[in-house]
Amino acid sequence: MNLDPRIPAGPLQDKWRSYKDHVSLINPANKRKFTLIVVGTGLAGASAAASFAELGYNVLNFCIQDSPRRAHSIAAQGGINAAKNYQNDGDSVWRLFYDTIKGGDYRSREANVYRLAELSLNIIDQCVAQGVPFAREYGGALDNRSFGGAQVSRTFYARGQTGQQLLLGAYSALMRQVDAGAVKLFPRHEMLDLVIVDGKARGIITRDLVTGELKAFAGHDVILCTGGYSTVYYLSTNAMNSNATAIWRCYKKGALFANPCFTQIHPTCIPQHGEHQSKLTLMSESLRNDGRVWVPAKKGDKRRPAEIPENERDYYLERKYPTFGNLVPRDIASRAAKQVCDAGLGVGETGFAVYLDFRDSIKRLGRNVIADRYGNLFEMYENLTAENPYEVPMRIYPAPHYTMGGLWVDYNLMSTIPGLHVLGEANFSDHGANRLGASALMQGLADGYFVIPYTISEYLAGMKLPPVTAEHEAFRDSLDTQKKLINKLLSIKGSRTVGDIHRQLGKIMRDHVDMSRVEAGLKQTLQQIPKLREEFWQDVKIVGEAEELNKNLEMAGRVADFLELGELMALDALGRVESCGGHFREESQTPEGEALRDDANFAYVAAWQYGGDGKPPILHKEKLEFESVKFTQRSYK
Ligand SMILES: Cc1cc2nc3c(=O)[nH]c(=O)nc-3n(C[C@H](O)[C@H](O)[C@H](O)COP(=O)(O)OP(=O)(O)OC[C@H]3O[C@@H](n4cnc5c(N)ncnc54)[C@H](O)[C@@H]3O)c2cc1C
Repeated sequence: MNLDPRIPAGPLQDKWRSYKDHVSLINPANKRKFTLIVVGTGLAGASAAASFAELGYNVLNFCIQDSPRRAHSIAAQGGINAAKNYQNDGDSVWRLFYDTIKGGDYRSREANVYRLAELSLNIIDQCVAQGVPFAREYGGALDNRSFGGAQVSRTFYARGQTGQQLLLGAYSALMRQVDAGAVKLFPRHEMLDLVIVDGKARGIITRDLVTGELKAFAGHDVILCTGGYSTVYYLSTNAMNSNATAIWRCYKKGALFANPCFTQIHPTCIPQHGEHQSKLTLMSESLRNDGRVWVPAKKGDKRRPAEIPENERDYYLERKYPTFGNLVPRDIASRAAKQVCDAGLGVGETGFAVYLDFRDSIKRLGRNVIADRYGNLFEMYENLTAENPYEVPMRIYPAPHYTMGGLWVDYNLMSTIPGLHVLGEANFSDHGANRLGASALMQGLADGYFVIPYTISEYLAGMKLPPVTAEHEAFRDSLDTQKKLINKLLSIKGSRTVGDIHRQLGKIMRDHVDMSRVEAGLKQTLQQIPKLREEFWQDVKIVGEAEELNKNLEMAGRVADFLELGELMALDALGRVESCGGHFREESQTPEGEALRDDANFAYVAAWQYGGDGKPPILHKEKLEFESVKFTQRSYK
């Protein structure tokens, strides 16, 4: 397979401008002849659907929630990056580009990342114009704070609710077009399959989650914006409804899956407190601006934090990484927390927690300033733990949070299936082996507002797409396959609940495909998952019927996909015998215990092709070429 990233020629700084200057256009009257199917209404989906409709395309827009406004992007807390340099602290497009490449440990595509950094400027203007209430300084200018992996303040925020406010902006733009009749919304519709006609994506099959009805929709292009797959770990900061079904089923139809093992374990989450918990809660990275991370210096020190004097505390991030201190990137902060807890220095009942302490910032800035910055996060923490973080340090521990892997896309954001574009967290494109904080919102909106409106026209203008309706036999076949799959699931009538099996899968994944990975553990995972998958297909218990609202059935389909995806993640992790970003192979570390990359052998995107039922997947490699930056060993010391 020829894995052509289709990167435009020319100097890095000119590629996107020159692409836009030369892209094929479609005249306004002809745009009306195209129907675009956008799956997802998070920041990527809502911004893409609204932008397409604004340009004149017909749009069908799907989501699993009851309102587009409830897409998972609403959960984003801390902020969105942009190289505006309002702080005059030395930021620039180049610096944001460089921080992102370095933060991703040189495993992302240079041209995509540079474009992302450039477009960060437009995003803020667009959102401000929509009325997004970004925090402002006393003089009225937009305020910024710092996030990990950067020495400048470039993160724009709306308290700890940035995702919600950005989504309301995109949602308003979307609803304007719904009202104008250009976008038709399908909430509570889950995409179950991609329909391919003559080698091109031409539609989808959905299940109406309220009535259970299977439906077919035809169009000229399918744009997947279905988010990430951290819920493969069962316990994660993602919503329980987040899933991989759309991307996984496209993978099984021929779209390559890139870097599935690149996942991000976020350092600041409320620690797990019991076996029956179904979700973990994030405490935004922005808290590391003012919170100091520490553990007692002595093992077994059970004193209350206030009783532990300064010289008996270990501010281990400040000690080990004096240049970046508490603002090292997420992968580094997560591993450091695990190391101190594994060494017996962790705090709290389980010993799997470290302190995030605001005492010094409150002393320096006053309680009101801290409340202005993080008030809602402090309240959330207190509601969940019954401890007041203004008075006692938060207890935090890493948790699965974000997936850098996803469907492989070229510079146009098109997958290996013509007519299937993939945006936002669902694609693999911009974050390499580790995403910097506040860069996911930036990528979702860059993809939706500013990239896809151009690249879709490149595809549609250059393509002869004969008319296809949902009556076509490819749609009928796919409907039939989905009906059979649902009936098969319902006919098992076993004894184990879907949640029970998902919890077991999550435990396997967290044990061996987590912050730190080792050959023996990954091999064990590759034995365990197929066994669990077999058990699922023989013994899962799904109550209820197909033609009704059936949460059990919904979750069963998603867990069936996770049981396959988990195996691919372990296989990908096993093959990458180097440490990079969030993928830390214990076999590959520096004498100081830091991640040791192997650029000679692994500077590539691992893109997996479905091999067919019961057959192993096939690995393809996209070599990563860096023309403008040089490989360096990442250091935040
Ligand atoms: C708690 C939390 C806090 C975060 N904070 C930040 C932050 O401060 N800054 C930052 O940059 N990033 C943050 N992130 C990451 C960021 O929020 C996400 O990466 C980003 O919002 C993903 O946007 P998206 O549009 O790609 O997908 P999502 O917002 O996840 O939307 C997915 C959409 O796809 C739909 N969908 C999924 N599957 C199907 C299907 N099969 N059929 C139909 N529809 C489907 C869903 O209904 C939804 O509409 C945070 C993440 C979490 C979990």
